[in-house]
Amino acid sequence: MSQFQGPWSFSKWSMFNKCPYLFKKYHIDKVKQEETPALARGNLIHKMSELYIKDQAPMTGEIRSMWRGLEALKRVDAEAEAEWAFDETWEAVGWNDPRAWLRLKIDAFVYRTDRCAVIDFKTGKKYPEHKDQLCLYATATFQSYSQPQIVQAADWYFDKGKVEKITFCRNTHSAHLGVWTDRANAIYRERDFKPKKNWTCKFCPFRQECS
Ligand code: SF4
Repeated sequence: MSQFQGPWSFSKWSMFNKCPYLFKKYHIDKVKQEETPALARGNLIHKMSELYIKDQAPMTGEIRSMWRGLEALKRVDAEAEAEWAFDETWEAVGWNDPRAWLRLKIDAFVYRTDRCAVIDFKTGKKYPEHKDQLCLYATATFQSYSQPQIVQAADWYFDKGKVEKITFCRNTHSAHLGVWTDRANAIYRERDFKPKKNWTCKFCPFRQECS
């Protein structure tokens, strides 16, 4: 019987939530994930944005749709590609710490004592689970920093040049912490990893195995 070991992340939870069997193939059986053209483009846009914020590369056509926002992030000294890890009790630990239970990469983060900003860069379409991702990032922010009362979370959709914002307040933090702890525990408790039909099945490389 299989069991997941190692740290979870938003993308792992998202895959598990869509289809436990698919999750098992990639994260327990360790089948290598192919890099699709869409994934390669997303990675490029993330890299170019990171380098631009760090003042290590110029503005390029790939990221121009968000130039105003990227410029603003550079001005306020945003942290690009912040790497956060937490242990099972939600205490912050180093990225490579063997106790790391959750790992998150935040595309851009701005700390202020009263409020923080977390930003996730997106290519492609908008999906409802993007709100879940921002909720997890806000939860991690409140957990890491005791002072800020507000987290302004945003998805930046590069293809459309649009921004979707959600404001999270500290008074909902403990409820969200409970939700994410339960969601993570479900991954570690799972033993069956049964296929679960979902809208991504038509793109799935394992569809012959479970049809
Ligand atoms: S085809 Fe669908 S149900 Fe089957 S493994 Fe892939 S995602 Fe899961």
